[in-house]
Amino acid sequence: MDGACHCGAVRWHFDGVPESATSCNCSVCRRYGALWGYDNKGGKLSIEGETHFYSWNRKWLEFHFCPNCACIVYWRSVDTAKRPGRPVGFNLRLAAPEAVKDLPLIHHDTETKDDLPRDGKCVADVWA
Ligand SMILES: [Zn+2]
Repeated sequence: MDGACHCGAVRWHFDGVPESATSCNCSVCRRYGALWGYDNKGGKLSIEGETHFYSWNRKWLEFHFCPNCACIVYWRSVDTAKRPGRPVGFNLRLAAPEAVKDLPLIHHDTETKDDLPRDGKCVADVWA
């Protein structure tokens, strides 16, 4: 699966199909409106192109974006002790809609630090 920012300068490639797409309501994700796929075991995601990043949460998360068109491409944890299972999230909104439309949607709640019960929605339900 592939994704690209609007101008095409930054691209991601995921070797496989992500299990789901996560919508997170934390203070930064809700502003970006990103849908995250996770490279859970690591090594399946590759990034091409120069990015700038915004550091957040005592600088243990970096949100990388295209310096030209400003699309959010991925985030990564620079402290793997804090997030051993999910070191990288990549923005599924940069993929072709038909490639991600059927992925089940997961709502992550930052208050409880947990995923909410699944509501049966998929990416196509929030794409428009
Ligand atoms: Zn761009």
